[in-house]
Amino acid sequence: MLKLVFATNNKNKIKEINVLLTNSIKLLSLKDIGCIENIPETADTIEGNAIQKAEYIYKNYGYNCFADDTGLEIEALNGEPGVYSARYAGEQKNSEENMNKVLEKLKDKSNRNARFKTVIALIIDGKLTCFEGIIEGEITEDKSGLEGFGYDPIFKPKGYGKTFSEMSMTEKNNISHRGKAINKLIKHLKIYVC
Ligand code: IMP
Repeated sequence: MLKLVFATNNKNKIKEINVLLTNSIKLLSLKDIGCIENIPETADTIEGNAIQKAEYIYKNYGYNCFADDTGLEIEALNGEPGVYSARYAGEQKNSEENMNKVLEKLKDKSNRNARFKTVIALIIDGKLTCFEGIIEGEITEDKSGLEGFGYDPIFKPKGYGKTFSEMSMTEKNNISHRGKAINKLIKHLKIYVC
């Protein structure tokens, strides 16, 4: 059986991936391996942060593992908030304030194009592979919807008449950046199991 650490403390993310994995892969959390420290995330790209987190676990704990990192990239803001999505409005990582900052910065802009990008970095026996998931869309004028988290209330995916926050979790996961990256990861992991 392949043991894999998912370098996250987010229980929802672990649950989301666990239901999609076969019984031949045992997913371990950071808590399962006794990792309680904050893993450094100091790279200046989304991909760099995902790799940094996966390498930290592989080097310090010796487990095969993967890590993810996500960012919202807004065209009119030259790709901001990007790698700084979580703390765009400050270290307190407050989603309402992050969204307010985005809406304020886009106040007079007609170009509302944006995309979410997730990168998953996987290390198995020292070999690094990255998987990317992107969803294109636009930033709405106002917040709308009650589901989801982060920037969901102000992100409307292309071809849809509603924000991520107005979708059910299943509807969002079927088209989302993270959903796409996870599907690529799972397809790849099938190489390792019979
Ligand atoms: P993380 O890399 O998954 O921790 O995400 C970084 C930041 O991006 C989070 O703090 C959220 O604000 C935002 N974010 C990540 N994924 C999503 C999403 O699916 N919808 C909305 N915001 C997200």
